[in-house]
Amino acid sequence: MGYAVAEALVAQGAAVTLVSGPVALATPSGVERIDVETAHQMRDAVLAALPGADIFVAAAAVADYRPADVPQHKIKKAEETLMLELTRNPDILGEVAARPDKPFCVGFAAETHEVKDYAEKKRRAKRLDMIAANEVGASRGFERDDNALLVIWEGGQAELPCQSKRRLAAKLVGLIVDRFDAQTTD
Ligand code: C5P
Repeated sequence: MGYAVAEALVAQGAAVTLVSGPVALATPSGVERIDVETAHQMRDAVLAALPGADIFVAAAAVADYRPADVPQHKIKKAEETLMLELTRNPDILGEVAARPDKPFCVGFAAETHEVKDYAEKKRRAKRLDMIAANEVGASRGFERDDNALLVIWEGGQAELPCQSKRRLAAKLVGLIVDRFDAQTTD
């Protein structure tokens, strides 16, 4: 979805920096892509690209936790069970949206149920300008070329029915541009 949004933003004339985890997708033309592997690398790359940015779209499904300790050598099997301690990863979107000079922030919310309620709570908690929510499950959301979204902003919402992620991204970008223009001309 992030790649489709980057492509749709370029089509609208935006200069786009795409900070990407490891994926098997071609870089959309006209996009500057920065490859990262960890949440910390992603946060550093996002913060480095932030100065002067008008819009931040956070589409990555960042792991909420990472192993607290990464051993240098292979962990040898011994006991029947093995405990791994996990520690919280930075919330990149939350951090960007909390900045005084924050850009227009768009988040995604993948939910398995009560999509609208959870998404609206997340939008308010992270102080986002817009959130795009979708229901995920066995046959929805990840690793597919189509998707449906419920897009919510302060005082409005739009339902974008199931369609290719490319078409969906173009419609989402249309909404982002409208809201961004409305905010900047207020
Ligand atoms: O809180 P939750 O992970 O459900 O929020 C999802 C939104 O937050 C997405 O836009 C995702 O890209 C972003 N996120 C983030 N950093 C994290 C976890 C999620 O930027 N560590």
